[in-house]
Amino acid sequence: MLVYFDNAATTRPFDSVIDKMGAVMRDTIGNPASMSTLGIEAEKQIIQAKNIISQSLGSLPEEIYFTSGGTEADNWAIFGTAAGYNRSGKHIVTTAVEHPAVLAPIQRLTEKGYEATIVPVDQQCNVKLDALEQSIRPDTILVSCMWANNETGTLEDIEAIGKRIKEINPNTLFHVDGVQGYGKYKLNVQKAKIDMLSASGHKFHGPRGTGFLYIKKGLRVRPLIYGGSHQNGMRAGTENTAGTAAMSLAADICYRHLEDNKKAVFTLKKWLSEQILSEISDTIVNGETLEKASPYVLNMSFLGLRSEVLLHALEEKGIFVSAGSACSSKKKNHSTVLQAMHLSEERIEGAVRFSFSPENTLEEAAYCLAALKEFVPILRKYQRK
Ligand code: PLP
Repeated sequence: MLVYFDNAATTRPFDSVIDKMGAVMRDTIGNPASMSTLGIEAEKQIIQAKNIISQSLGSLPEEIYFTSGGTEADNWAIFGTAAGYNRSGKHIVTTAVEHPAVLAPIQRLTEKGYEATIVPVDQQCNVKLDALEQSIRPDTILVSCMWANNETGTLEDIEAIGKRIKEINPNTLFHVDGVQGYGKYKLNVQKAKIDMLSASGHKFHGPRGTGFLYIKKGLRVRPLIYGGSHQNGMRAGTENTAGTAAMSLAADICYRHLEDNKKAVFTLKKWLSEQILSEISDTIVNGETLEKASPYVLNMSFLGLRSEVLLHALEEKGIFVSAGSACSSKKKNHSTVLQAMHLSEERIEGAVRFSFSPENTLEEAAYCLAALKEFVPILRKYQRK
């Protein structure tokens, strides 16, 4: 049996998404930038994708720009703001639990004379709103805060954050890394006062290598990639017509089934977390409570165990989970997110992330639980020697 509980790392594209990708690649051969009839056919696919995505966010279609994924969108929001607003200030605010796709560009800017304030989180991974408010200054050009945390599933209160930023400094831009939230929850960019929002196709059953950045109309955010005049001169490079069309189909499917999907993953998360807590000793949930956190992510610590050891054992049974985020799991160092939550060393060492998709089943969860019940006591004995 193959049990894929690593959907926060990447998801399997829906069958209809794969079909759409193939069909567009086969049938839509023109370059969307070309004025020929074939080019116009291709452009129609891009226009349709913009319509679908803008409807899901409450934005205008022309405020959606397609990228190669979440990392590019995050880099663009940060470097593009710095380039366009450097005369207004050089101060950037972000949080201690952001993905490296946000933290690394900000770090790079600090090497070039920008100043960054990193706002702390509480033990459940909620951004401390008081500290965030206090960090905003007249020269703060950007606040970048994620929507759903990739490691713990904690959902930040984006509407409250957006409102406070604009009350304190209406000129400060608000960027939301929506990579783990888009396609799973709803957010209206106007209501939440968001200036930029990043998303990534492969996190919501779209193709890998696709994504988008919403940029509110009228901002001075500069391009990240220069070249031809594609996407209104904002993102050079021939558009990925098939990938974009397929990603927008995935978004459409996710938003049409949003509530059912949430219920399905909540049932799985509730069952698995409750069973682990009652059947396996010395286990603890990291992050927010079941009711408050994302139902898509369950982060649990198996005390007295190193998570990599458990990961490998589970993999032998065809069960795929992750330790911390996918991007940091190949490195030896511990999760910076769990460290920022001030969890104990033992809790961080034994933290495992189960991340679900509506395609997962209770049967898979039961198979995973049985494997955990078998391995955890043996591995603990071995490790304690
Ligand atoms: N932001 C968050 C919160 C993520 O979880 C990820 C990927 O794990 C990214 C950004 C980067 O997205 P991509 O893999 O599409 O580059």
